[in-house]
Amino acid sequence: MIKEKLANIKSRKLSAKKNIENFLKLIKENNKINAFIYVNKDAVTQAEVVDKKIKQGKAGRLAGLAIAVKSNINVVDMPITCASKTLENYYGAFDSDVIKKIKQEDGIIIGMANMDEFASGISGESSYFGPTINPVCPERVPGGSSSGSAAAVAAGMCDIALGSDTGGSIRNPASNCGIVGVKPSYGRVSRYGLIDLSMSFDQIGPLCNDVFGCALMLEIISGKSDYDSISYDRPVEKYSDFKKINKIRIGLSSDFEKLCKDKRIYDLIKDCAEKLAEKTNSKIKKINLEYVDLAVQTYYPIVYVEFFSGTRKFDGRKYGRKIEDSCGEEVLRRIIGGKEISKAEYHGTYYRKALRVKDLIKKDFDNAFKDVDIIISPVTPNLPHKLGDKINPEEAYAFDALTIPANLAGICSGVVKAGKVDNVPVGLQIFAPAFKEKLLFDAMKVWEDLNI
Ligand code: GLN
Repeated sequence: MIKEKLANIKSRKLSAKKNIENFLKLIKENNKINAFIYVNKDAVTQAEVVDKKIKQGKAGRLAGLAIAVKSNINVVDMPITCASKTLENYYGAFDSDVIKKIKQEDGIIIGMANMDEFASGISGESSYFGPTINPVCPERVPGGSSSGSAAAVAAGMCDIALGSDTGGSIRNPASNCGIVGVKPSYGRVSRYGLIDLSMSFDQIGPLCNDVFGCALMLEIISGKSDYDSISYDRPVEKYSDFKKINKIRIGLSSDFEKLCKDKRIYDLIKDCAEKLAEKTNSKIKKINLEYVDLAVQTYYPIVYVEFFSGTRKFDGRKYGRKIEDSCGEEVLRRIIGGKEISKAEYHGTYYRKALRVKDLIKKDFDNAFKDVDIIISPVTPNLPHKLGDKINPEEAYAFDALTIPANLAGICSGVVKAGKVDNVPVGLQIFAPAFKEKLLFDAMKVWEDLNI
């Protein structure tokens, strides 16, 4: 539990150094999990500096905690590979906004986490550095694309991890690994220093074993940045200071139910919603999300086009190798597809049409949130596939059907452990309106307390 750990570090029952050493030992012993692409060689020395600050009473809010960082977030002097051969030897030249904030609060970057190549995937299998193993269910994939971030948390190899979520990449692995993960509202967290998958959807967010850790981390990394024009200037509330919620309106949608292919998953989620409603004296209301079944078809053309444009800088001159010559199958598919869709003659056909449907889905949520405060759904339509099983691109894309809607609508969404189906962890997804992260965390906390 992060709150207790911080108290122990502050009261010097546990030194920052010891905390870091424990994690380093575990990472070494369990390197088969392949959660990290790189481990910070200076972490212990950095922890010693933090210990001095603690003694002087000058330490920050993350003092001595070990933070794992997805390999698409720039950290100075660490390899920022995006788990691709393209950037195999590329080292960060600067700290992302989120990293600056973590360092200011005396968090220690323990290493760079494994991921699907260029954040494109749902399984954690497409990394140039080999697949990540799911620590709680080794025969199944850990999920992706933030596979290493989730696996590092679930295996107890760090306190908190950062991931990025464009269409579900924080929530999907959080669900498969039985941990907590949050996709913030679009514009809540600065994207400065994050290597784009799709600039109009990407958000950096936290993964942790408990809701408090995610809330604290989001509190720290949120806020307007001069370096990211889409980051919004909204006050950051104290997410980690949980308030009891009472008599809210909880939305369930048969449109989500239809998209959830494994009935056992939906039944479990419905059951969770009922328990949550009972605990908070709330009412469950049925809501309509008319266009949500088009989410996958809407998301991918936009991602293809934006990814194609974002990767033009990887031409082998300034950064690493030429991407088309060095990337894996899925990344190449997106580049070729994005190039094709971007051609002038196709503009109206795919990209603009997708933008129009994106607006319709956003309106669906705007309307739904007039009637309810939060919405509950599963995270994935099926259980994660077995490690090594081949699935085709359509099947992989369909896995995002329940997470993508939040990215299209720009709202926030979090995942907490719901339970297990067939002994495989399954997450509960909660959606809240844009910039209502406080409500989201309060609801997640109720569920966590109920489920322990
Ligand atoms: N699976 C989705 C994709 O491949 C989501 C990726 C993400 O959120 N980074 O695009």
